[in-house]
Amino acid sequence: MTKMNYSVDPAGFYGKYGGAFIPEMLHSNISRLQHTYLDIINAESFQKAFNALLRDYVGRPTPLYKAKRLSEKYNINIYLKREDLCHTGAHKINNTIGQILLAKELKKTRIIAETGAGQHGVATATVCALMGIECIVYMGEVDIERQAPNVARMKLLGAEVRAAKSGSRTLKDATNEAIRDWIDNPVDTHYIIGSVVGPHPYPDMVTRFQSVISQEIRYQLIDKTGKAYPDHLIACVGGGSNAAGAMYHFLDEENCNLILVEAAGKGINSGHTAATSAKGSKGIIHGSMTMLMQDQEGQIIEPYSISAGLDYPGIGPLHAHLIESGRAEVHSATDQEALDAVYALSKLEGIIPALETAHALAILEHRKFKPEENVIINLSGRGDKDLSTYINHMDNGE
Ligand SMILES: *Cc1c(COP(=O)(O)O)cnc(C)c1O
Repeated sequence: MTKMNYSVDPAGFYGKYGGAFIPEMLHSNISRLQHTYLDIINAESFQKAFNALLRDYVGRPTPLYKAKRLSEKYNINIYLKREDLCHTGAHKINNTIGQILLAKELKKTRIIAETGAGQHGVATATVCALMGIECIVYMGEVDIERQAPNVARMKLLGAEVRAAKSGSRTLKDATNEAIRDWIDNPVDTHYIIGSVVGPHPYPDMVTRFQSVISQEIRYQLIDKTGKAYPDHLIACVGGGSNAAGAMYHFLDEENCNLILVEAAGKGINSGHTAATSAKGSKGIIHGSMTMLMQDQEGQIIEPYSISAGLDYPGIGPLHAHLIESGRAEVHSATDQEALDAVYALSKLEGIIPALETAHALAILEHRKFKPEENVIINLSGRGDKDLSTYINHMDNGE
């Protein structure tokens, strides 16, 4: 059997997924990034600055925690990688720290970003405050109403939040506005994308910034168990950045089983879902050839999930490739299954997870493992931001 390759190729493809399908007016910016990103981020001085901020500002390394009571419940060895303990409450800041340093290297003086639920907007506004750089976050008008606390956070951090008022006034419209801004301001502006999506080199670049997660898992697991890789690694997938980061150093470790969990919403066949690999097909979204949910005319179907961070109509090209090649297993969890997992983890371990993360935890209910196996779940974020959802649903039964 020929060994599969899971790294990006020089043209930006993972198998048949990826690439850079962009309007001509973005070409010079994207092409400059493609030609310089590896040299910039691999430079010793960059790595030194990146690692210092991850340590002193983000709070890394995050612990790899053996969840004893959860392990007993499912009769396996469960380890939680505690990204919920990162500054701002999730893994997203690993990427925004990397990209703000890159923007400085490129002598950019203005940052733009898109955000749906506001989590990436907050992580971007945070690093812009840290560096004293102007920050503009595009957000759908509907999302601005739905996500008031995160809008307030971004403003407190000094960012300008601009409403996207076209189309469905949600994430995809905010993305369109951000792209338009970048076309108008190609010289001084860097666009910080929040997941492993978008044109090459974003998927690879964001994966590399997030790969600090798997780098830490590797030595922490050796330290705790003597084993160089877990038998199973589980992560939820919105665009795919926490999964890519947790899995990066294990991609070529064929004995490490990779499990991706999507949001089924109200059920895969309910018409209200964000299970992209189950319901999607090959197409282009945000400059990348990947799997996405689209109708017969190629128009994007609005995704649905109770969790705003998984509510994305595509997945990153790496994940499309991992799924299609059979390297990764893919599962989904419904809104209700995710909520049940929130309540279970909170009571068993004293850790209130984010709704996104809870989808990864939920599959413990139906995916069976052997008692001696080591299972790592990437705990991508904490649940403070989801408290009102948890309270509302507790009223109905919990
Ligand atoms: C944004 C977010 C996700 C989904 O994004 P990925 O790029 O798929 O990781 C998952 N968990 C949390 C806590 C998030 O904030």
